[in-house]
Amino acid sequence: MSAEEVLAQVAKEVVVCEKCTLYHSRKNSVPGEGPANSEIMFIGEGPGFYENEQGRPFVGAAGQFLDQLLGQAGLKRSDVWIGNVVKCRPPGNRDPQPEELAACDVYLERQIKAINPSIIITLGRYSMGKFMPGAKISTVHGQMRKIGERYVIAMFHPAAALHQASLKPAILADFAKLPELLEQARKGLGRSTLDVKEEEPKDEPKQLNLF
Ligand code: URA
Ligand code: SF4
Repeated sequence: MSAEEVLAQVAKEVVVCEKCTLYHSRKNSVPGEGPANSEIMFIGEGPGFYENEQGRPFVGAAGQFLDQLLGQAGLKRSDVWIGNVVKCRPPGNRDPQPEELAACDVYLERQIKAINPSIIITLGRYSMGKFMPGAKISTVHGQMRKIGERYVIAMFHPAAALHQASLKPAILADFAKLPELLEQARKGLGRSTLDVKEEEPKDEPKQLNLF
């Protein structure tokens, strides 16, 4: 299966998924969206009210702020993949529970494997926890770590920064540093910005051992 096919298959499965109790309260699951050959994946927490209505990630207030942060970093939303650690809305936007995170992780793992991004940017504590278990976001926000063959950057959640005024300058500063971190990551992987622009053809088969 091509990366596009894997993403489409995952999207199809999460629509009918009943692997955790979050399916009871969903209107639309939110598989995530973006090019199958994205260099960068943004991973948030879970759908909120508007995402549950529309089936698309980051379309509410946090999403508008994310768009602004992306623009500030010279990135277009259409160039990156954006998704979440849980694909269905936790009731009342409560925190996702460990068993929900565990149940939904198989989908995110398949998405990461298919897209094979150079850089993963986590938004908030729950997606950070997947890659940097035990880390504290207050300490590691804005930092980049090489994890396996890719780089992971932990960012505050845009919604947290909207609700807690004291976090806003920090998230703005972290995103302002992003172009520099992206360059560092590309160098670290032996890629230039030019290589990145001349991405491999979309339909090139990727190594997958899923089925
Ligand atoms: N917050 C998230 O973590 N994800 C979304 O998709 C929207 C808001
Ligand atoms: Fe399935 Fe994930 Fe939705 Fe739970 S949150 S029902 S595991 S798609």
